[in-house]
Amino acid sequence: MNNALTLIVDKIINETHDAISILLHEKDNRDLSFQPGQFLTFIFDANGIETRRGYSIWTTPDELPQVGVAIKKFKDGITTKFLLENLKIGDSITSLPPLGNFTVEPNKENERTFVMFGAGSGITPLMSHLQSILKYEPKSNVILFYGNHDENSIIFYDKLNSLQKNYSDRFFIEHSLSDPKNDWKGLRGRIDRDKTIELLEKYKTQFTGQVEYYLCGPEEMMQTVMNVLKDRNVDRKNIHREIYTTKILDETDEIEEKEREVTIILHGNRHKVIVLPGETILEKALEQ
Ligand SMILES: Cc1cc2nc3c(=O)[nH]c(=O)nc-3n(C[C@H](O)[C@H](O)[C@H](O)COP(=O)(O)OP(=O)(O)OC[C@H]3O[C@@H](n4cnc5c(N)ncnc54)[C@H](O)[C@@H]3O)c2cc1C
Repeated sequence: MNNALTLIVDKIINETHDAISILLHEKDNRDLSFQPGQFLTFIFDANGIETRRGYSIWTTPDELPQVGVAIKKFKDGITTKFLLENLKIGDSITSLPPLGNFTVEPNKENERTFVMFGAGSGITPLMSHLQSILKYEPKSNVILFYGNHDENSIIFYDKLNSLQKNYSDRFFIEHSLSDPKNDWKGLRGRIDRDKTIELLEKYKTQFTGQVEYYLCGPEEMMQTVMNVLKDRNVDRKNIHREIYTTKILDETDEIEEKEREVTIILHGNRHKVIVLPGETILEKALEQ
């Protein structure tokens, strides 16, 4: 694996009770350039088994040579448990270079609207997108619908608030919590069909130019939003999504070229791998 990078942990930030941010740099100053929305693939040895996991970069390319990822603890998850409990400043992590096509390319001439639906750790690529757009695409608006369990589980809450203050005429956020405290003033409940329709209606006056939709979160939320957008005749090419877990099927997926995370069971052991467009699952299995 001669393209593997060695990332050194510079800083660990406790974002919530079950999520951390890690800031990293490449040990030998090897190229880490990325487009907003791309992810790193960390490679670990978990009890003798090579384990690969994707983690989206939440920082922006202008912060290189440092990059940041945010990792949320996954119930019974091998990697997240290990990282959240053991990672220290100065540790090194083996990683593949940034990959992925869930990206934005800011252009100062463009006047567009980015409507983002995120939940939980799905905020990470959206954070890189929205910071880049706000900074480098000054005529475009960003509207973020962000779902979480409760007040204490909102990753990047303070950063998002300060961005909203700095870009109050172009950046709009609606938090929705499924189990908030009594005094919570924002929206309640998951981002379901009714809420998606209500939010799109509420913010449609902020839509300017081409509207691009970016989705990252639990499968159920993404499928619900996809269905609403389909009913509203949104062109599929303007809907972008990142899938952290299993595949969601719709008729356009067959022609979509994107990386997939698949689980290969080999000699009774489970290996999660990222399969890129043009690669076969068999090729990946042979690498294990
Ligand atoms: C492109 C991409 C970007 C991503 N970006 C991020 C990000 O920015 N932040 C983030 O937090 N995550 C991200 N993820 C998800 C991440 O890669 C991991 O999947 C996640 O952290 C869980 O890893 P884990 O090893 O802790 O869990 P795993 O050990 O893989 O377990 C995941 C789940 O599967 C279940 N499971 C495990 N083994 C078995 C078994 N033998 N039988 C049945 N069930 C089992 C576990 O109980 C658990 O619920 C991303 C994924 C992709 C593909």
